[in-house]
Amino acid sequence: MTDAVSQPDFTPAISIDNLTVYYGQTPAITGVCLNVSDGEYLGIIGPNGGGKSTLLKAILGLIPVSSGSVSVYGHPPGKSGGVIGYVPQFASMDRLFPISVLEVVLTGFLNKGLSPFHRYTEDNRKKALEILDTVGIASLAGRQISALSGGEFQRMLIARALAVNPKLLLLDEPTASVDAASREHIYGLLAELNKKMTIILVTHDLLAISSQVNRLACLNGSLVYHGEPELNREVVNQLYGCPVDLIAHGVPHRVLKEHNEHGKGYRQ
Ligand code: ADP
Repeated sequence: MTDAVSQPDFTPAISIDNLTVYYGQTPAITGVCLNVSDGEYLGIIGPNGGGKSTLLKAILGLIPVSSGSVSVYGHPPGKSGGVIGYVPQFASMDRLFPISVLEVVLTGFLNKGLSPFHRYTEDNRKKALEILDTVGIASLAGRQISALSGGEFQRMLIARALAVNPKLLLLDEPTASVDAASREHIYGLLAELNKKMTIILVTHDLLAISSQVNRLACLNGSLVYHGEPELNREVVNQLYGCPVDLIAHGVPHRVLKEHNEHGKGYRQ
């Protein structure tokens, strides 16, 4: 008799093998190997130009891979159906475009782009409102996006990414341009979403690293570090090319290990 009990799916969310991406003659990332398990919350940090956005775009299948391979839940990038929700960088959006919050979220239901006479279904509208409720801005559904605060705008972008009902959520600096209260709200939201989906968070917010994510990747052209979300000084210096003090005074989560009592080193 065959065992009818369904087996857990151990297919990694993302499997990246020796990935190199060039823009013209310039390498953006080289030889990156990275596996992300289903349900993981991975933070990616690194200096500007370190290749973080390039890595996200390779996972999304938005740019050609020069060598190596990427697979998303066992499929080539771009062929994984509606598995990935993507929150692009805030700065890449036109905040003055005359469109309401609800309409932006509705665009998340389009999989072949907006055609001039496209009509959303009632079901689309209902779902979009539900998602806005999930991210805590349902009351702003009818508001023009030009009238949103930075934090509200980011939550709207997360809502749009959730329209595809993703298994994997990629976010490119979602806490840039938001105040401290909104940042906390976004991290709370991401922690909730992580109960249902895998998350990859590109951030410059080093404090978020130890308190939010459960794995960390540091990218500076190549992968400098991949592991537990606690950094040591060597990795950070290698990453940023200069000594960076990452101690979070007064905050219970530390990125670096504590100074010893003489302030000459770090407790191991
Ligand atoms: P990050 O997101 O870490 O700031 P990027 O992935 O945007 O880094 O960029 C990595 C490198 O690739 C940088 O040197 C950047 O100048 C270069 N780059 C990024 N996008 C392009 C592009 N469209 N054309 C040419 N070079 C690019």
